[in-house]
Amino acid sequence: MIKIYSTLTRLLEEFKTIKPGVVKWYNCGPTVNGLMHLGHARSAIAFDTIRRYLEYKKYKVVYVMNFTDIEDRMIEVANKEKRAVLEVAEEYLNYFRRDMANLNLKTATVHPRAMLHINQMIEFIEGLIEKGYAYESNGDVYFDVRKFEEYGKLSNQKLENVLQEGTEDTKNPNKRFPADFALWKNEKPGEPSWSSPWGKGRPGWNLECSCMSRIYLGDTLDIHSGGQDLIFPHHENEIAQSESLTGKPFANYWLHNGYINIDKEKMSKSLGNFVNIVDLLQHYSTDAVRLFVLQTHYRSPIIFTEDAIDQAQITSDRLFDVILLTKNYATETTVNKSALSDLDKELLEKITKAREDFVKAMDEDFNTSNGFAVVFDYSREVNDYLRKADQINGAVINKADELFNEFRSVFGLYEDFNSYLSMDLVEKLVKLLVEIRGEYRKEKNWEMSDKIRDELKHAGVTLEDNPKRILWKLSEN
Ligand SMILES: [Zn+2]
Repeated sequence: MIKIYSTLTRLLEEFKTIKPGVVKWYNCGPTVNGLMHLGHARSAIAFDTIRRYLEYKKYKVVYVMNFTDIEDRMIEVANKEKRAVLEVAEEYLNYFRRDMANLNLKTATVHPRAMLHINQMIEFIEGLIEKGYAYESNGDVYFDVRKFEEYGKLSNQKLENVLQEGTEDTKNPNKRFPADFALWKNEKPGEPSWSSPWGKGRPGWNLECSCMSRIYLGDTLDIHSGGQDLIFPHHENEIAQSESLTGKPFANYWLHNGYINIDKEKMSKSLGNFVNIVDLLQHYSTDAVRLFVLQTHYRSPIIFTEDAIDQAQITSDRLFDVILLTKNYATETTVNKSALSDLDKELLEKITKAREDFVKAMDEDFNTSNGFAVVFDYSREVNDYLRKADQINGAVINKADELFNEFRSVFGLYEDFNSYLSMDLVEKLVKLLVEIRGEYRKEKNWEMSDKIRDELKHAGVTLEDNPKRILWKLSEN
């Protein structure tokens, strides 16, 4: 049984989906006005892993993650760079998709974009006005927070304490109440705009998630997630909009990931204190970055230091070595009929136990930190077996390999395994042949040396005899 901590109830709750076996999940995606940084990556890797775990537990996960392509910060960047908002959005969206793929993040079932849903957002606002939850004022439309009695329930604050500081102008004369937030913003010079019943303008940022989640997932979601910084006002406002319109609960479980800090300062683009993923992946492997993030529980803060990520790279490489070794034996060994030795029996027991412990850790609010502890323990035990056993039992080592595959599928690690394996092997074999050929050349054994070169060429490897060293490359076809 999976237990989830929900921000809404502030309790660890038993996870039950609306439709058995199906998870309807909306995750707030990025504003595409800059490169993907570590803060984005932390959130994305955490939720990608939870999604993978739910799939491991045989749920069908319908995962929707938006890209915000129209919003104040988009317009800011576009104006600064003297480019159209759409152009900025297209560029950074492509970079985001590239970086997401490089972090081995599964693509969402749908990645909706705000700009493509303006008409549906207008309809959503009309619905709220009709029901008396929103009002038009000089071409703007605002949500009347005093009409929604439960406003503040997610961020656990009373309405009198709520101020839309930093996100809304509290002195705006168009508002009836300072905490009211914009659903539609009147056209301003230099901003993109669309026609609406209230004149030309554009939707407020909070609206897109309420609207698009409803289109793709329905009135009530199983899971809604995002960074901690989105709890207020963004998610609070989403609840107000959605529940006022539909009269139904918006989401059954609210998941929020903790911050990632550099030198204890919050990581965010506005502080200019962030690491771009594209730069980070120049120095560290995808697996090291994922392991670094997942070694901490998703709700806890992470402090990013160079030492910590260096250590994650070392740990990841070590783990990979054992997994690789296990896989080699699993594919090569065929001693299946022999009786089980004591070491075989011990390892089989450990495999069963490790799987149980892993599931137990992950069932408890997706505790990847404890999950990794199980994986490291297990890898030490498999490593011991590989070194100590007189004879490797094929059936046993295959089971060990299977469990590594399960861990890898949940944590999203070492995914390019097969290509890595085959390229690594090809490289080693070619180097060996080149070396042997070099020996023949020294002995002036041209017959053998030419034979190796010709056979390699036949296999698609071209050799180039350079005065200093022999260069080789895989032929184009
Ligand atoms: Zn959102």
